[in-house]
Amino acid sequence: MNTDERTTPICLTIAGLDPSGGAGTIADVKTFFAFGCYPAAAIASITYQNTQGVYGATHQSAEELRSQVEPILNDLEVSAVKTGMLPTAEIIEETARLISENDLHNVVIDPVVRSTSGFDLIDGAALKRLIEMLFPLADIVTPNAQEAERISGVALLSEPDIVAAANIMFGMGAKAVLIKGGHLRHGSSAVDHLLLGGEHHRIDAPYYDTTSTHGTGCTLAAAIAANLAKGKTMLDAVRISKDFVNEAIRTAPKIGKGNSPINIQPIERSG
Ligand code: PLP
Repeated sequence: MNTDERTTPICLTIAGLDPSGGAGTIADVKTFFAFGCYPAAAIASITYQNTQGVYGATHQSAEELRSQVEPILNDLEVSAVKTGMLPTAEIIEETARLISENDLHNVVIDPVVRSTSGFDLIDGAALKRLIEMLFPLADIVTPNAQEAERISGVALLSEPDIVAAANIMFGMGAKAVLIKGGHLRHGSSAVDHLLLGGEHHRIDAPYYDTTSTHGTGCTLAAAIAANLAKGKTMLDAVRISKDFVNEAIRTAPKIGKGNSPINIQPIERSG
């Protein structure tokens, strides 16, 4: 199939590079491609990691980020943008400026805080800027339960807590909030909670007891961006993306000595 920007939506990720291919930019690019979108990627930080841990990172300056993004936006018609690891306040402020100045639509903000292995991917001051500057631009924010607790200050022990946390995030300007509850288990289900247009949707999926989950959050947010770029409604985009990630976890390969990445594979072209 030929790539043509009239028929192949272009998705941009602004995120951190995991050179070992499991999370961050490479997961985003694989996911955009899996949904038939054309990927563009700007790197906010080069991390040093593998499936066993994150060992460090070199962050880009605001100027270096702009130098990557401007040529893309001057040339390509970007239909959706997804942000992942934005490590510093200056990178966050520049990302917000780039989104506003270029009037980008279908903005998916994954408020990445910490890797599963415990490495802080953003500093505390930067998270505050992310909330102030990027939540108001977000069509959806996709925190996991720990991120939602840190952002909202609400301990998530029950469903009413989840709704309360989401309401706080609406107050911060997000248009929709997806709280990923992979570890807030309900028996054999992993339930995500989507709050959208005043309604609470429970998105159920089977819970897989596996450590092969590296890159799950990045993949989910990128899949939502790809589906919004393809014209799906927010509810459909989230449901399709959750199913996609679920299948990728179920069929995850065993790559590396640590937490294996999930299995990101192209969906049927008819999908
Ligand atoms: N590295 C980068 C660059 C990321 O963006 C993320 C998560 O968003 C991670 C690592 C953490 O991935 P995980 O917690 O799935 O291992």
